[in-house]
Amino acid sequence: MIYLDEAATAKYNKDRDEPIIEAMNNAMRNMWMNPSSLYATNVKKEIDKCRENIAKFIGAKSEEIYFTSGASESNNMAIRGFVSNLYDEMIFDVDVITTKLEHKSIKRLVEECETLCATVTYCDVDKYGLIDLDKLEEILKTHWNTEKFLVSICMGNNEIGTIQPIKKISDLVHKYNGVLHCDCTQCFGHIQIDVDKLGIDMMSVSAHKISPVLRGIGFLYKKNGIEINPLIYGTQEMNLRGGTTNTYGIVGLNKAIELIDFDNNFEKNIDLISKRDYFINQLETKFGCRLNGERYRLPNNINVTFPQNITGEALSYMLDIGGIKCSTGSACNSKSVESSHVLKAIGLSDEDAMKTVRFTLPVDITYEEIDYVIKEIEKAIKLISV
Ligand code: PMP
Repeated sequence: MIYLDEAATAKYNKDRDEPIIEAMNNAMRNMWMNPSSLYATNVKKEIDKCRENIAKFIGAKSEEIYFTSGASESNNMAIRGFVSNLYDEMIFDVDVITTKLEHKSIKRLVEECETLCATVTYCDVDKYGLIDLDKLEEILKTHWNTEKFLVSICMGNNEIGTIQPIKKISDLVHKYNGVLHCDCTQCFGHIQIDVDKLGIDMMSVSAHKISPVLRGIGFLYKKNGIEINPLIYGTQEMNLRGGTTNTYGIVGLNKAIELIDFDNNFEKNIDLISKRDYFINQLETKFGCRLNGERYRLPNNINVTFPQNITGEALSYMLDIGGIKCSTGSACNSKSVESSHVLKAIGLSDEDAMKTVRFTLPVDITYEEIDYVIKEIEKAIKLISV
């Protein structure tokens, strides 16, 4: 099997994942008590230690980390929590500024916020999916006098791999007194993120994009001083997220982070980028594919439109027969017949969006595997294009 859907969830990797499983198993055997119970001091201590390590990893303070079930929840907690907190302060004309490229959890949430009388403004992106900083400043200028507003931007796009210039965005947002939320799901653990240096006020993270054994755990980083309301009421996570604490997920996430060595990762990323670019080159020269998104992109991401009369869906079924797993957009909309909102936002027609495939590569991909995939694509095109 050749797994090329790393953006949906990370591929199992023995060297990385077995130590995580071991740490989680150990917690299941020895730290099974509810950490909120008064007597469960060892469990509480372990969670505090994990929270501190994770905070350090992103240049934050431990009380700024709120564990959640993943990035969809973190996105909802940040945006809905921000808007609803302002409602409590009797501020009803809340402004949310975002793009048309966001993950469905944000796309649908901001549409909902609009019905709750928040004003949502979409900032333009160019044909590569890069945010137009002049347009952003123009929008921000009009919010100069509003009491508080939120800008939510995805750092690394899950479909087209474009990486936004977060520092430039945060400088602008803060110049006009806004709050910046970033969905860093596809970047966290792969690219070094220091929230302080980048000027990120809230950040959503999901752990299963680093290791597939970490399903249902993530966190929201929220800078001290930013007020949000809970999404799930209760007393855990400093009263901001109710629900019995997921000790095993937290221990596993902490272990995964301990195993990340960015110096080593840098080398690995260079290697992955070389293989990714080789793959892109083959797709462009052999089939005339058009690359979507910027060339400077997430190290594992390839998103291409085929010129042949072949749908991404048909191609991915054919590749599946050859043992190759890929996606025709993001996994979150793979059941939908609608073409991807991200591809539409960068100007693709419905027809071209339907002829688009995403390959996201695991770190252990080999050149031989890429050559095999290219051959299988060649075969599929011969068979099904008309
Ligand atoms: N944001 C982005 C950019 C994503 O890629 C994903 C996962 N597809 C999510 C949010 C949702 O993450 P989770 O599965 O943890 O809810």
